[in-house]
Amino acid sequence: MNKNQYDVVVVGGGMVGAAVGCSLGGSQLKVAVIERQMPENFSVEQAHDLRVSALSIASRRILEMVGAWEGVISRRFCPYKRMRVWETKGDTEFNSDNINRDELGYIVENRVTQMALLERLKDFTNVDLLCPTNIKTINYVAGNSELEMDDGRVINAKLLVAADGGQSRVRQTVGLGVTSWDYQQHAMVIYIETDYGQQDITWQRFVPSGPQAFLPLTGNYGSIVWYNSPDEVNRLKKISHAALLTELTDTFPDCLGKVKRVIATASFPLKRQHAQNYVKSGVVLVGDAAHMINPLAGQGVNIGLLDAAALAQVLIEAVKRGQDIANLAVLQKYEKMRRNENLKMMTIMDAFYRIFSNQLLPIKFLRNLGLGLAERVTPAKNLIMRYAMGLEGNLPKLAKGEPIL
Ligand SMILES: Cc1cc2nc3c(=O)[nH]c(=O)nc-3n(C[C@H](O)[C@H](O)[C@H](O)COP(=O)(O)OP(=O)(O)OC[C@H]3O[C@@H](n4cnc5c(N)ncnc54)[C@H](O)[C@@H]3O)c2cc1C
Repeated sequence: MNKNQYDVVVVGGGMVGAAVGCSLGGSQLKVAVIERQMPENFSVEQAHDLRVSALSIASRRILEMVGAWEGVISRRFCPYKRMRVWETKGDTEFNSDNINRDELGYIVENRVTQMALLERLKDFTNVDLLCPTNIKTINYVAGNSELEMDDGRVINAKLLVAADGGQSRVRQTVGLGVTSWDYQQHAMVIYIETDYGQQDITWQRFVPSGPQAFLPLTGNYGSIVWYNSPDEVNRLKKISHAALLTELTDTFPDCLGKVKRVIATASFPLKRQHAQNYVKSGVVLVGDAAHMINPLAGQGVNIGLLDAAALAQVLIEAVKRGQDIANLAVLQKYEKMRRNENLKMMTIMDAFYRIFSNQLLPIKFLRNLGLGLAERVTPAKNLIMRYAMGLEGNLPKLAKGEPIL
């Protein structure tokens, strides 16, 4: 095979694209992962990044199966075993002990997960990481697309994998359409220092202006995610860290421990977006390129990693059967595994979001009833927990700890 001819070219080496590359590592396929920017080197002395994600147990299994979990735990991560959700009438606590698990999930900086995966890619002789590289042109031809880089290099791909995020250029170039809407809300992420370590619990509260979440980080640090109207988030962004600290102290309940210092902030507009189709002959969408979900319950990268695992499984099975990996019927197997599952997760998140941001009395009554029931009915509570941990639904093999090669 020509040096510049690949079976699979993954555009985007973020967490999901790098996971596709690692999942195909060691297979017969010749793979390239293109990423425009290498993440900055990591050291434990550095402050935590603002971008962190709650990784599920299923995500951990995928990272373990592709050999990248070690790269996460050797850097920095914060396991949690309890999740508390509270409303006006009491609260509900989910505890992994109730389902005989050590943890519910892990708060990990996005850069750490991405670096662990990119580092692992280098171990595979069948995978090339082309980074830093920008794509100049994409000439989509089903089964033989051509990409020109800005350094003049030209490569060809039997299958093009779009892992280039929510604004995916690949998706737009090949004409796969999306349905999207704006939630008219922004999420403000606030990195804080607290009086004491946040230990093993995440907190989530629902108030009329939107959810408020508190995620533990290692040491005496935490990450607050404050959902609010774009105007209110703009106001909060403009005030000094000292003034923001006062607002946090007034707004967040005492049981979180005293916030000592605001270190950094960022904000993100919230948007829901879903591709009408994930595949076309010779091209496939994964991760945020396929779906953007309300981050309310921290599932975006988790479902993206499930996409990566499912796609690798389908491609490797196709190779074993001697099928063409660019063939639409082969790629539709991946779409069948993932699109409905992702739609289900997005719909649940939306229902949650609408129920919890609604102040109509009957809805308030129903949600208090729901939380009260969830607190008392153990099987319901355990099912919610298993869902959040990514242990329910139609899981790809890697997420169940089963090999695909
Ligand atoms: C406030 C907030 C909180 C969140 N919290 C959570 C959480 O707790 N848990 C969770 O699961 N999810 C969470 N998410 C969602 C999660 O961050 C995304 O789902 C995830 O980052 C998507 O990963 P991705 O690899 O698909 O896309 P991206 O992270 O967008 O990566 C795309 C990559 O492609 C590269 N790229 C793009 N274009 C090109 C090109 N032309 N050439 C080369 N490279 C290119 C980019 O450099 C980037 O590295 C949160 C999101 C927000 C906004």
